[in-house]
Amino acid sequence: MQNIPELNPDDYSAIVFFTGAGMSAESGIPTYRGAGGIWHEYRWEEYACQDAFDVDPEKVLDFHELRRPKVLECNPHIGHEIITRIQRKHPSCWIVTQNIDGMHQRSGSRNVVELHGSLWRMRCSQHGISEDPSVRYQTRRCSICGNWLRPDITWFNDMLDAVVMEKAHNLINNAQLFITIGTSGVVYPAAMFPRLASDAGAKCVYINTETPGDESLYDIVALGKASEVLNGMFPLA
Ligand code: NAD
Repeated sequence: MQNIPELNPDDYSAIVFFTGAGMSAESGIPTYRGAGGIWHEYRWEEYACQDAFDVDPEKVLDFHELRRPKVLECNPHIGHEIITRIQRKHPSCWIVTQNIDGMHQRSGSRNVVELHGSLWRMRCSQHGISEDPSVRYQTRRCSICGNWLRPDITWFNDMLDAVVMEKAHNLINNAQLFITIGTSGVVYPAAMFPRLASDAGAKCVYINTETPGDESLYDIVALGKASEVLNGMFPLA
């Protein structure tokens, strides 16, 4: 790992951590694109889109239910904890995440915008969202209309939630420090957010095990594992 510059969160009035699957990798949750990623093993057309759900809801629900015990076997790491500690001292520190695993919240973080939804919520197309944090689904049917509930996550071909996107936009537009961690940046909107932050004048930091596609967007490029880089970057946290 290279020498990591130290940052003091007190120097910034608004901070956004933008996290992707690489943030959870050290917790044991596989990324999508790396070796062992789930779309090497399963065809998303059969398991992770509305069309598949419409054809065979039980098959799609079985698939997603299996991810719950796997995620619960994993735990947040020191990198999650460092962000949580920074948040406790700085109420204007937010996390915008592409992850659906709830790992930030399990480490105690609160201001979390989940761009792609959550594995721990279910949704009825007519009666909205319900929390369901258990290992197995509490129910697969809406208690009001009896329709199938689907996981409240963004599947392939789904639109992102407009309200959630606007919230993320506003946070990033107003950030003084923007830190992107563990995202390949090829999936919309990950590709767009660092540019937005940079154009808005934020100090932009990139943390990843691989080099960024566009290095010119960043004031600091820190190559290494999320936990190790965060530990070196925020020694006071
Ligand atoms: P991705 O799989 O496309 O990219 C992961 C990135 O993390 C890569 O750039 C890789 O170099 C980097 N990385 C791997 N290990 C790392 C580590 N220890 N420290 C720092 N960086 C590391 O993931 P993505 O960019 O987030 O996009 C894929 C989509 O799938 C997103 O919506 C993502 O959230 C979702 N997804 C979510 C989970 C989850 O909830 N944990 C898991 C897989 C994919």
